[in-house]
Amino acid sequence: MPRYDFRCRSCGDTFELSRPMAQAGDPAVCPQGHQDTVKLLSAVAVTGASGGGAPQQSAGGGGGCCGGGCCG
Ligand SMILES: [Zn+2]
Repeated sequence: MPRYDFRCRSCGDTFELSRPMAQAGDPAVCPQGHQDTVKLLSAVAVTGASGGGAPQQSAGGGGGCCGGGCCG
């Protein structure tokens, strides 16, 4: 079950909830009981993170073995 980070705008606390994705957008209640909370962007499912890693595999078909038929 994915976890979501929330921040309470009443007390400034941040907390984490585990909930089904279907309820990801539901309002969360601060552990202190406040309901003025906002959902934070979580770092889960970050794809292609910035930082210039390896380029994605030959999207441009740079030749080589694959594409020539030798790879099946
Ligand atoms: Zn609070």
